[in-house]
Amino acid sequence: MRLYLTVFALLVAVHCEELFNVDQVLRIQAESENYTEVLKELEKNVDWGLDFWTHGFSTERPVDFRVPNTSLCAVKDFLRENNITFTVMINNVQELLDKERAEMVSNAEIKHKTKSFNFAAYNNLETIYSFMDTLVASHPNLISKVKIGSTYENRPMYVLKFSTGGEKRPAIWIDAGIHAREWVSHASAVWIADRIATDFKENRAPVPSILSKMDIFLMIVANPDGYVFSHISSRPFHRLWRKSRCVTSNPNCPGVDLNRNWDAEFSGPGGSDDPCREDYRGPSAQSEIEVKNIADFITSHGNFKSFMTLHSYSQLLMYPYAYSGTNAPDQPELHDVATQANKALYSWHSTIYKVGSIFHTIEQASGASVDWAYQRGIKYSFAFELRDTGKYGFLLPADQIVSTARETWLALKYIMQYVCDR
Ligand SMILES: [Zn+2]
Repeated sequence: MRLYLTVFALLVAVHCEELFNVDQVLRIQAESENYTEVLKELEKNVDWGLDFWTHGFSTERPVDFRVPNTSLCAVKDFLRENNITFTVMINNVQELLDKERAEMVSNAEIKHKTKSFNFAAYNNLETIYSFMDTLVASHPNLISKVKIGSTYENRPMYVLKFSTGGEKRPAIWIDAGIHAREWVSHASAVWIADRIATDFKENRAPVPSILSKMDIFLMIVANPDGYVFSHISSRPFHRLWRKSRCVTSNPNCPGVDLNRNWDAEFSGPGGSDDPCREDYRGPSAQSEIEVKNIADFITSHGNFKSFMTLHSYSQLLMYPYAYSGTNAPDQPELHDVATQANKALYSWHSTIYKVGSIFHTIEQASGASVDWAYQRGIKYSFAFELRDTGKYGFLLPADQIVSTARETWLALKYIMQYVCDR
């Protein structure tokens, strides 16, 4: 019997190796507290090299994580041994990466031939920065490019300022891409920048009236170093990079999670002190130059009324707090604004979003940008998690960019108008 089992184990091992020569993304819907305990064990095993695509474990929402092909057999065995039900969310990560890469190559060729910018494509930093220059050049009376500092790797950090004049008018902040791999957020921000300019030029409500009273600051790439790294190769390790690219106390694990580094309950629960973790918060609050540049810019401006940040994926529209389950003082109003914005978003393609505080909708997170903004008196602070809900995760096909941007724009427009009316 013993021999039989050994032979069986060997067969399984061989079988596994044949099956799993690619990374997969697994999804677990935690059904009980027992699941949470097992997931914590799973997370602790650094040797498996798991890459969590969602953060925080609760019975409320699924946990998605990429498993390198070398660990797939062991991880699946571990889950089965512990009676944990899982589904394969993405069967072959490399296949999606190859598709995305091929699309980018053909889009670059089209761009080269037609000499026009393709909004339905993922573009690298250089292309996005040159798009910004073109946009500024075509709308010199409305848009200017503001350099707010440089990154760890010395790349410039730019914000597009939409303004019809006046000094330090009440302003709206929108950023995207603080997490490098969330490419649809950058791509949506590009489309939105163009849309603000066009709506103003063609006198389409409510943009001209908003811009007659307020300025809009839009940062398309909040983490340029991470974004460049995510374009270097189509290997999962690069494309799925989340953090910045600074050196840390562990030479093998560079990068800080820039959305855990803000001076808002920094180092509380929901952020890690381990540089090898995806949610590594950094050594101290605002230790990271990228975060410091944005925080300094917003603080010295001193008249921001709304702060919105675009992430992906999960289809969520959220407000503070992230660090605590206690309701923010303005919770009823923020919930109402988010609910109305969500209705506007839904009206375009019937995409379903969930609305709530970050803590209750996604997870506890300390050092998050929306909490920082809210605690500094920027009342209308919201975080978006754009498409999808997990079919493709961070590898959303480029043909969904424009529809994602369009529906997001309706929500942003609702919030901007609401803020402007007050
Ligand atoms: Zn994110």
